[in-house]
Amino acid sequence: MRTALVTGASRGIGRAIALRLAKDGFRVIVNYARDGAAAREVVDRIGANAVAVRADLGVPEEVTALAQRVAAETDVLDVLVNNAGIGLPRPIGEVTRADYARLFAVNVEGPFFLTQQLLPLIPDGGRIVNLTSGVTRIAFPEAIAYAMSKGAVQTFTLALAKELGPRGITVNNVAPGIIDTDANAGWLRGDPEAQARAAGRHAVNRVGRADEIADVVAFAASPQAGFVTGTTIDATGGGNL
Ligand code: NAP
Repeated sequence: MRTALVTGASRGIGRAIALRLAKDGFRVIVNYARDGAAAREVVDRIGANAVAVRADLGVPEEVTALAQRVAAETDVLDVLVNNAGIGLPRPIGEVTRADYARLFAVNVEGPFFLTQQLLPLIPDGGRIVNLTSGVTRIAFPEAIAYAMSKGAVQTFTLALAKELGPRGITVNNVAPGIIDTDANAGWLRGDPEAQARAAGRHAVNRVGRADEIADVVAFAASPQAGFVTGTTIDATGGGNL
């Protein structure tokens, strides 16, 4: 049985990815940071072939502990999905150094060093999928530092794909548009005007669903995507076309 690690898989897009990969026959390691109950719910839904592992990707020791735990769980990690991420909806004038440091610790350093430490487990033909965002393509000064963090991940993907390509390991980004998850609940849920504004940013004129992003990640993680690497799969519903 193939094994996948999905970071930030207790809620939102990561949860949908974990459930989808389980359906595709993977044993899934479900990482989370705080919400143990939500992570357990995901594991219970999957059944025997799932395990929850707590680790805050913004804390270097916890990243190392996660990599060690994965190595204890499996000799081979077929798929790594770097999904965990936090937002920072602030323009340049309002970003503090502490906000910036935490954002880059979770969104950039975490996946970088987690991937570094897991590479020995990833076999020839393995898959790495990184969650970025439409805001690497669409100027979004309302969350400038967040967009920069995703830009860093995009560049990470490009370079790593070249290094790992000869082994048949693909590395790709999936860039969602505005998706209905807890990350957007505060301004989106229960506000029809905000929903209409958000929908209007996408050509398909609606907000996206977590399972739609999971479908795209599942493709990038599949054997059928062996000739796709170093790229960004845009899953923004036609954001700002
Ligand atoms: P979400 O609903 O806020 O869920 C975040 C998940 O990540 C949770 O499972 C959370 O765990 C985990 N997490 C948060 N901080 C973590 C940390 N420091 N270490 C480990 N896990 C952590 O987020 P989402 O909307 O699903 O977003 C998932 C990814 O897609 C992120 O990278 C985000 O930037 C990207 N994205 C989202 C959207 C969107 O519109 N939603 C758009 C573009 C890109 P706990 O449950 O334990 O807190």
